[in-house]
Amino acid sequence: MNTLPPSETLEAAARSSEQLHRLRAMLDAILPANAFYQRKLTAAGVTQGRDIATFDDYAQLPFTSKRELSENQAATPPYGTNLTFPTARYVRMHQTSGTTGRPLRWLDTEESWTWFGASWAEVFRAAGVGANDSIFFPFSFGPFIGFWTAYEGARQLGAMALPGGAMSSEQRVRAIVDHQATVVVSTPTYALRLAEVADRIGVDLAASDVRVTIHAGEPGAGIPGTKRRIEEAWGATCFDHAGATEVGAWGFECGAHAGMHLNEAEFICEVIDPDTDEPAEEGELVLTNLGRVGMPVIRYRTGDHVRLAAGPCECGRTFRRLAGGVIGRIDDALLVRGVVVFPSAVESIVRLFPDVGEFAIHVRRTGELDQLTVQVEAPMGPRDGPTTDAVADALREALGLRVAVEAVAAGTLPRFDLKARRVTDHRRPNPDRIEDAVT
Ligand SMILES: [Zn+2]
Repeated sequence: MNTLPPSETLEAAARSSEQLHRLRAMLDAILPANAFYQRKLTAAGVTQGRDIATFDDYAQLPFTSKRELSENQAATPPYGTNLTFPTARYVRMHQTSGTTGRPLRWLDTEESWTWFGASWAEVFRAAGVGANDSIFFPFSFGPFIGFWTAYEGARQLGAMALPGGAMSSEQRVRAIVDHQATVVVSTPTYALRLAEVADRIGVDLAASDVRVTIHAGEPGAGIPGTKRRIEEAWGATCFDHAGATEVGAWGFECGAHAGMHLNEAEFICEVIDPDTDEPAEEGELVLTNLGRVGMPVIRYRTGDHVRLAAGPCECGRTFRRLAGGVIGRIDDALLVRGVVVFPSAVESIVRLFPDVGEFAIHVRRTGELDQLTVQVEAPMGPRDGPTTDAVADALREALGLRVAVEAVAAGTLPRFDLKARRVTDHRRPNPDRIEDAVT
């Protein structure tokens, strides 16, 4: 294994000291100029970096929420007041995918863009990807930050970046083969979709040059059954990664495949109980980025539900790890008959069945009772019964909840190019569904 840089192997005390040093420098840069954080931090009694001497001081800083940032941008369009410099200093604009409300716009300076790309280069390095690799991005490069930063990370690494925008899935499969790509970066859902398309057009991806796949945007690469399925289809090693438009590329998986590392050289990371705001082993991930001074987030509630893994990692990094990566978005947790169900928990079971293709989750209320139904693309005919029964038994066992499983014909459920939307909660009004809006 390559020698790790010292920043990745610091002991706890040195790590804390380094993080506080970086934080104080950032506070000194943003407090005089950034109206959003000047107001928040001054109200908390912090007027200069020196006011944060310890992590106890840090823990007194107010949280930042996505709603707060969104309201700030709505009140002061187009970018809000979380800006440390005049807009002329910024070189990149991206926005969130807007799956939960109004898209959040985010600006980067030359320095912060380089910083974001460097975090992605770290994702690549941890996956054993280097300057000799050719990295294919089957992604429509639009305003969503998605894999733009991975593209920048590939440049910093000295690897070949192959853009896959404005192509059909079939064209992307052929481009991967033609260019002899060795690495593919996508959502886990889309990796499986490309494998399905390749199979249909008679291309064996397992025989291609692809040796590493890296996935972000949703849980999946951290779910053993999904990971195995991707690895088998691609004949490659699959790595999980997590990041966010407004935060940065904060998590990566190393060659030990023992969960997702938090990049604690560039982010201060906390896990809290979202109800009490107290530190917890499992709960909401809260992050401060240390290198995005132009538009930072401080104690930002990511909305990601995570669980800390115990013990050191055999790779030698001292960065803590998340068991199973991001378990799900807190907003996506379904409460069904008193049981909290993350869609990833359903996926982790469904993917164990090789006969099952895509799946969809429906929650309905019949009378006083909630019913969770999982539709699975499974072979029809005589084998249908055993498959759906087996999936239902496994789901009941894992979730502690009776789940109805319905088989549907292969290829009939929706396919997704980016993040999958497999869950429909019919109990919640959904503006996209008129029948729900009127009930
Ligand atoms: Zn590791």
